[in-house]
Amino acid sequence: MLFTFKITLNLRLQVVFFFLLLLISSKIYGQQTEVVNFLKVKATVEPDFTQKSIKGIVEYSFKILQNTDSVYLDAKEMRIIEFFFKDGRVEADKEKIWLIGNFKKEKLYTVNFTYNAEPKQTLYFFPLNGDGSDSEIWTQGQGKYTSHWLPSLDDTNDKIEFDLTVVAPLGKTVIANGKLVEIEKTTVSQKWHFDMENPMSSYLVAFAIGGFDKKELLSNSGIPIELYYKPQDSLKFEPTYRYSKEIFNFLEEEIGFPYPWQNYKQVPLRDFLYAGMENTSATFFSEAFVVDSIGFNDRNYVNVNAHELAHQWFGNTVTTKTDEDHWLQEGFATYYALLAEKEIFGADYYYWQLYQSSEQLKAASDEGKGESLLNPKASSLTFYQKGAWALHVLREMIGDVVFKTAVKNYLEKYKFQNVTTEDFLNEVKAATQIDISLFVKDWLHQSAFKAEDAFNSLLKSNFIKNYFEVAILREIPISNKKVQLKNALTFPNDFIGQEAVYQLADEDFLETLSLYKTAFESNNLYVRQEVALSLKTIPKELQTEYESLLNDDSYVTLETALYQMCMQFPEKRIEYLEKTRGVIGFQNRNIRQLWLALALITENYRDSEKPRYLMELKHYTSTDYSFEIRDKAFLYVEQLQLWDNETLTNLVEAGVHPTWRFAKASKELLNAVVQEPENYEKMKVIGKQLSPKAAAYLNSIIKE
Ligand SMILES: [Zn+2]
Repeated sequence: MLFTFKITLNLRLQVVFFFLLLLISSKIYGQQTEVVNFLKVKATVEPDFTQKSIKGIVEYSFKILQNTDSVYLDAKEMRIIEFFFKDGRVEADKEKIWLIGNFKKEKLYTVNFTYNAEPKQTLYFFPLNGDGSDSEIWTQGQGKYTSHWLPSLDDTNDKIEFDLTVVAPLGKTVIANGKLVEIEKTTVSQKWHFDMENPMSSYLVAFAIGGFDKKELLSNSGIPIELYYKPQDSLKFEPTYRYSKEIFNFLEEEIGFPYPWQNYKQVPLRDFLYAGMENTSATFFSEAFVVDSIGFNDRNYVNVNAHELAHQWFGNTVTTKTDEDHWLQEGFATYYALLAEKEIFGADYYYWQLYQSSEQLKAASDEGKGESLLNPKASSLTFYQKGAWALHVLREMIGDVVFKTAVKNYLEKYKFQNVTTEDFLNEVKAATQIDISLFVKDWLHQSAFKAEDAFNSLLKSNFIKNYFEVAILREIPISNKKVQLKNALTFPNDFIGQEAVYQLADEDFLETLSLYKTAFESNNLYVRQEVALSLKTIPKELQTEYESLLNDDSYVTLETALYQMCMQFPEKRIEYLEKTRGVIGFQNRNIRQLWLALALITENYRDSEKPRYLMELKHYTSTDYSFEIRDKAFLYVEQLQLWDNETLTNLVEAGVHPTWRFAKASKELLNAVVQEPENYEKMKVIGKQLSPKAAAYLNSIIKE
């Protein structure tokens, strides 16, 4: 899984950061795996959008390993409607469904039952328009527990073959694990039958229902790759999924073990909780990665795409036994995603990413916050980035051939089972004469980051050497490094050029003017972007060059440049606004929203249209839109003080949104907004239009 984390700083600098955060899965190392092995489940589930509930019919087969009078499935607050079980009975409590009988060792049993539930989490319903007539539904198992919507096992150590059938309204598309074998039509709905051939842990079971189209590709090895999209995003299909086939072919070849599932699907989802989730054969990812060709330059799906695909082997085929081994999933997925990016974007890019993560790891380590890779409570930085570094270092030590042999043997030996770090290390030891004990000590057990080893490894890249030569100039006065910076900005490398521009900020323009001109003339998108981001006061002498940023193929550049120019050259504001009218930007409509805000505060500009602009901007705060759009809209509503019944209602709803970071930010904003007595009075009368959950939340605020 990859987490996505967005920080909206302020109007001047709006940057999106993607943080990889650890999901702490509070694993209970169940004893039950020694008593029973659940083999297979056939489940038919039908979600109800209006009730936000689910009902299901399941048939579970299981094998008893030790005589017992009861076994259980995890099932949160489920009700049994009826059951058929010739060997016993079925009972539900708040946490579990119990199968009770006189079960004998080595015997196979089958149980059938029907249940319903109103899941508090894990299964999410989103309206796509005001009247709720269109909707999207999806699940997120990891960290949320599939047992909220499907009786299953919270323990990852019993793998089950899940054959899911999902009942969905006519006209909707269902995406779930495995191969679609049949769509059975009734007058009001369709039953989508999926088949899995191999077992998996319950956290990887998933389905999504929505209005999706798809295109299908075939990997070199013949695996169908289904790429889903919303019909209105058809023009964004190519940039969104750019390199998908290359990534698949590369990883299958690189890992050396054939892709282990029947097909591979990917679907972008509205308001998805994370950047991506590697449900078996069906990766779900955030709609924020649906981009056009310009957006691709700023923020693309390549890394998340490769990360989630790598999990189809590391995590889904071999699953860790305990949290101590979590790096076997996240470290591997991070490392193989880096290798895929190296294949696509080149070795410099690969080393740059390693360098960036080494800086973070070193900083944490220097603060005494270094963590062993085997620490079950380690941070995401450790599991993901230190894990990837460990594999990079190991591969350098034992060589490509041995590394690949060890990984292949590890997957072959433990496929569809659970693994420990020891299992992986044993395969490495079996493949080489080289003593890896120092590696195990330094990179797996030691909490401090081996920064010197990392540094030496990075120096194998000439690009990194060149970068360091420029970075070291940070300490030198501007007058003494102009020649070197000029060189760095003439035909620059993306990263080295950015570093050179960074060093110009806050220096005297008499010294830097010609260097800025060189940076503009470089025509390098990322160097010019760094100018937009770091140059806070635009000198008159650079106005023409700066204005040319509006033509760059980057929404990050455009957002910053448009804002800066409208503020610093107000006499030309109308010209800038006319030039950027109609540009939407990213999925969060960053350019459109900024444009609306600027248009609204610009005198004598399209005054007759302003009521429409105001309505549009305020409407972006509503539940009709994804949280990324709303998050930005609230910022402008606050800046322009557009609080009224509509926007306040939407803010209260935002406070109970399932995406907790958005909910948290909305609550904080609401707490600030209600400090104004005028807003507080308005809040008292908005209760009627709210959802029950939001109404309860509002009550708690008004009472305080
Ligand atoms: Zn992951």
